[in-house]
Amino acid sequence: MQFLSALFRFPKDDPAQATRARHTLMSSISSLTIISFTVYCSHVGLFRVPLPGLFGFVALALAIHALFYAAICAGWNRRLADPSMTLVQIINSILWMMFVLYFIEQVRGTVLMLFMIIFVFGIFRLRLAQFIGAAVFALGAYAIVIALLFFNRPQSINARIEVLQWVLLAMVLPWFALIGAYISNIRNALRQKNKELEKALETIERLASHDELTGIPNRRCFLDALRREQACADRDHRPFCLALFDLDFFKAINDRHGHLAGDHVLRAFAECVQKKVRQTDYFGRYGGEEFALLIVDADMDLASNMLERIRADIEDHAFSHIDRKVTASIGVAQYAPGETINSLINRADQALYGAKNDGRNCVKQAVLEVQATNIISAIEAVS
Ligand code: GH3
Ligand code: MG
Ligand code: MG
Repeated sequence: MQFLSALFRFPKDDPAQATRARHTLMSSISSLTIISFTVYCSHVGLFRVPLPGLFGFVALALAIHALFYAAICAGWNRRLADPSMTLVQIINSILWMMFVLYFIEQVRGTVLMLFMIIFVFGIFRLRLAQFIGAAVFALGAYAIVIALLFFNRPQSINARIEVLQWVLLAMVLPWFALIGAYISNIRNALRQKNKELEKALETIERLASHDELTGIPNRRCFLDALRREQACADRDHRPFCLALFDLDFFKAINDRHGHLAGDHVLRAFAECVQKKVRQTDYFGRYGGEEFALLIVDADMDLASNMLERIRADIEDHAFSHIDRKVTASIGVAQYAPGETINSLINRADQALYGAKNDGRNCVKQAVLEVQATNIISAIEAVS
């Protein structure tokens, strides 16, 4: 029982599979219409298959539909060239139609209308060539049914009417195939456009949150991360630090080597720092030649050691496009529970000024000047 429920579990987590399963269910419902019609015809004596044969026909038709549905639910269809199995399902339906057409009496012309229902499902997937192929297959199969009827049960058919019906079907099906393929193409174009739109949206989101030159998060994105970290730190009582970097005498690099070389240094600098920080830390471009680093789960000692290593690495790094060393001044502040983001940034900024005043190329720690109101909120946050 568990196996069966797993086999027929609707694949709602996979949108493509869910659509395929839905189409297969719809095609099963249309087949049920044909089956019900056949059973009714049998009841009123218009379907010349004895009762056991009729039951066999119904059971087999249902089993095949269940198999198609199970194949999609279980994901077996993914290995096929056409995972929707549209053409196979259409061919299957056409074959069943032939069975019905062969044994049905008097209302054969009416049953032909059901071809349209079968072909509607092609709109979901088929290309023009496949549509035409399915139409030719249906016409060929129907011609065989007429021939078989002519030889086996000549009393049950009027050859002229059957041929006329075949000709009518031959006129209608190609048009159906053409219009179906046209709609199918529109759907494909729409799907393609949707994909392009999704990509464009991704690009827009990336442009809005990342710096174009260095590819790292921009100031807005960095500040969002800082606010999120503040909320986590307040909740979990975890320490974190904010470091601000400013490249030393960067204007001189631009003046001497040009802005393109300056851009190159900014990119290489971002790459260099990004490689040194932990995966959990968050590094962004704060503006111009200033960068910011959020060091999570770290107190002042841990952050300062790490920043000192980064500072030394930058000093040792051989930047291409320029003939001089690049250094950075760094100011770091540890978040004091309850203080505002602005206060934290101000303190890191003051420390950065301190580093500049101390001769640059050094790390300077911020002093903790928390106001009385902040101390009260800090006590409240801890209690
Ligand atoms: P200090 O050591 O005091 O920080 O000196 P500095 O020259 O680095 O600082 P200043 O503020 O005088 O100059 C910063 C320069 O950074 C000026 C600006 O043209 C340059 N800059 C800002 N953004 C970019 C950028 O995207 N590309 C390039 N090439 N230069 C930039
Ligand atoms: Mg600056
Ligand atoms: Mg600078």
